[in-house]
Amino acid sequence: LSDRLSGIFDKLTRRGALSEADVGEAMREVRRALLEADVALDVVKSFTDKVRARAVGAEVVKSVTPGQMVVKIVHDQLVEMLGSEAKPIDLHAVAPVPILMVGLQGSGKTTTTSKIARRLKERDRKKVLMASLDTRRPAAMEQLKILGEQNGVDTLPIVAGQSAVQIANRAINAAKLGGYDVVILDTAGRVTVDEGLMDEVVEVKRQTNPHEILLVADALTGQDAVNTARAFDGRVGITGIVLTRVDGDGRGGAALSMRAVTGKPIKLMGVGEKSDALEDFHPSRIADRILGMGDIVALVEKAAANIDAEKAAKMAKKMQKGEFDLDDLADQLRQMQKLGGMNGIMGLMPGMGKMKSQIAAAGFDDRLIKRQIAIVQSMTKVERAKPAVLDAKRKRRVAAGSGTDVSDINKLLKLHRQMADMMKKMGKQKGGLMGALGGM
Ligand code: GDP
Ligand code: MG
Repeated sequence: LSDRLSGIFDKLTRRGALSEADVGEAMREVRRALLEADVALDVVKSFTDKVRARAVGAEVVKSVTPGQMVVKIVHDQLVEMLGSEAKPIDLHAVAPVPILMVGLQGSGKTTTTSKIARRLKERDRKKVLMASLDTRRPAAMEQLKILGEQNGVDTLPIVAGQSAVQIANRAINAAKLGGYDVVILDTAGRVTVDEGLMDEVVEVKRQTNPHEILLVADALTGQDAVNTARAFDGRVGITGIVLTRVDGDGRGGAALSMRAVTGKPIKLMGVGEKSDALEDFHPSRIADRILGMGDIVALVEKAAANIDAEKAAKMAKKMQKGEFDLDDLADQLRQMQKLGGMNGIMGLMPGMGKMKSQIAAAGFDDRLIKRQIAIVQSMTKVERAKPAVLDAKRKRRVAAGSGTDVSDINKLLKLHRQMADMMKKMGKQKGGLMGALGGM
């Protein structure tokens, strides 16, 4: 999405309020990107409607471009729809507080059960009992027992031949007798949602009255996760979602859809196989992932704080006229320094590939920014405005003044010529690099 929006960035260079047309074009890209990230169609629609309502007519902050403004609005709306505040597991009930874990097979229920147990034990000093209700796979109970041993969390002793409901009741009783604070019930899953599974879970719920029913869903499964969430919430009624495999390279669209479809908060994220790989849900992290352009928002915020908009506007005007002297170059270098150096800014800005390779070809990097600025400072006003007057003698003087070599002066002049050329071209095109930099 970041690449596609950068195309729009170039087009949206006007100042003032965002127009319907500006926003409309950006929304088409956002829509496509969300569908690619596996966000459900109806969710995409309600999302883009909300963003459009928020963006059309919005005043563009002076120091950012309209395109960047739209990106920020999209990001903020994503965070809002994902649920801005973290919702922790609710333990405000009479002990032992039952927590029921539901979801498809392989979604990470058993792993997450032990992760939550460990966290409650270590962070909240709770006494936790875990019980596996998975009667279908004999290895499942053993798996939970081993995880319990590894993490120092008790598990309900395994008794052969009992039904899931019987085990659940036994777990509640054992938790009461043993003075446990929390009892986590890990249910069996099927590869797909089926009636038998649902009936079983509903009956366990009826008998144990869980305070939390957490749907465990794999972030990598996209649309399927949404159907699963809808089915479980419809039949059983969930209180929250745990998103697993957030460490994988999924786009995170599942999170947005599940949240929108069920209206239930995403409470936790699994970020690895290890038993401590559990985190509170961070909406902005998922929003970044869905947009595929995380750092852009940070850059916009940073730029807005750092860059002098007046200066930038003047620069853009000069560029269009094809004027770009060494003072301007030094100004640009200083601005880049403020933004965290060349590599930082080049990595963050869309459409900078061409520029980056030119700068690399000129043998120019962060280390040299300071030196380049020093060189310009050692020049006279005339030399800065008209670099052509710099003959061999003048170059030697500047080199001596800035503590550099004549070859460094030549490199700087070459860079300046290249940049001036490119900016002249870009100035005619409008937007482009300086539209982005200057606009900021
Ligand atoms: P269940 O069938 O729902 O009980 O799923 P399991 O808990 O047995 O997990 C299935 C597989 O997913 C196991 O290999 C887990 O180690 C792995 N897994 C679970 N959660 C995560 C996670 O957050 N990240 C990663 N990378 N793997 C996970
Ligand atoms: Mg399991």
